[in-house]
Amino acid sequence: MPYDYDPQNIFAKILRGEIPSQPVLETEHSIAFPDISPQAPTHVLVLPRGPYVCYDHFIAEASEAEILDFTRAVAEVCRMTGLCPGDGKDGYRVLFNSGLHSGQEVPHLHAHVVGGRPLGPLLA
Ligand code: IMP
Repeated sequence: MPYDYDPQNIFAKILRGEIPSQPVLETEHSIAFPDISPQAPTHVLVLPRGPYVCYDHFIAEASEAEILDFTRAVAEVCRMTGLCPGDGKDGYRVLFNSGLHSGQEVPHLHAHVVGGRPLGPLLA
């Protein structure tokens, strides 16, 4: 299935340096920065640098190196922000919106890492 990536989306502009961001993590294939409109005390977005619209697009077309780098970047953000239950902390949620029904606003794949308060039921 073809995926139509819009290179003018705001995260593409951030990745090209056309719009400033304040990364909390940068790796070869991924970047993470705070959400501009946080929904919890911790709300960080983790993006692969490559032009992928959504999660299934990423898994279908990204290299294994990109997938591994991104997967590790998400975990590193959870660890850096002090949310990991394995460290005795209170935990977090990782969420991908993909497509119309999810309410995805920006058509460049990003993981939302949220935590720092009880998050309630997933679909509340
Ligand atoms: P989506 O609905 O999953 O696509 O989430 C897009 C997220 O991007 C929203 O939570 C927005 O608050 C966030 N966002 C939009 N523009 C910016 C920006 O320039 N910097 C950081 N976050 C942004």
